[in-house]
Amino acid sequence: MATQYILRLDDACEHSRIENWIRMEQLLSSYKVRPLVAVIPKCADPDFLSYEIDHDFWDRVGNWIEQGWSIAMHGYTHEHPQKDGGISPVNKRSEFASVPLEKQREMIADGVAIMRSKGIDPQVFVAPLHTFDVNTIEALKLESTIRVISDTIATKPYQRYGMTFVPQQSGSVRAIPFPVVTFCYHPNIMEERDFERLERFLEKHYLSFISFPLEQTTRKRSLFDTLLSGLYLARRRLLFG
Ligand SMILES: [Zn+2]
Repeated sequence: MATQYILRLDDACEHSRIENWIRMEQLLSSYKVRPLVAVIPKCADPDFLSYEIDHDFWDRVGNWIEQGWSIAMHGYTHEHPQKDGGISPVNKRSEFASVPLEKQREMIADGVAIMRSKGIDPQVFVAPLHTFDVNTIEALKLESTIRVISDTIATKPYQRYGMTFVPQQSGSVRAIPFPVVTFCYHPNIMEERDFERLERFLEKHYLSFISFPLEQTTRKRSLFDTLLSGLYLARRRLLFG
């Protein structure tokens, strides 16, 4: 079976390197690739506040939707005061992991309300720094209609905790022989060579890119998925301590 690729773009918010987002938009529209964009509802992350204010941000999101791009809710403020990795500890920092359920419910409810006020009803969740816990999932179930999460390592989407997980395996384009592969980019920090490498890959593989799948799956995580995820997390621990 041929691999289906998904492109995910993180950290879209009112503070960004706008020229990089415009460049990405032009590149993807020339190859008719429709990504999933992870939008921060209420950005308060100091790393992003130094970028210029994008006064047209929500109009820009509206244009992306018109072009068939999918939109995810990317956390709430994208701050990450918690020192906990949650259920997929890719990082030991988090906006959500270890925050009490009641507080997480408030964060999710307010994030959804902000996005709905802009005309967007998010159906996908992307946790900042890839970190969340079972209370995040509970809060999403109670406060939103989101039932799909883009994250974790597996060979294709699977169902767990009553959510469909669409795996996200790589931070840049490369051939990975799994049925469904998500590449995650952060346009705000992309350099010339990142755009060039992405374009070279799109030239060859653009027909294999699909829109983000919203449908639920009943497939459970396979033993191979569990092994793969364990290996990935162990390797990260070795590399990053
Ligand atoms: Zn992020």
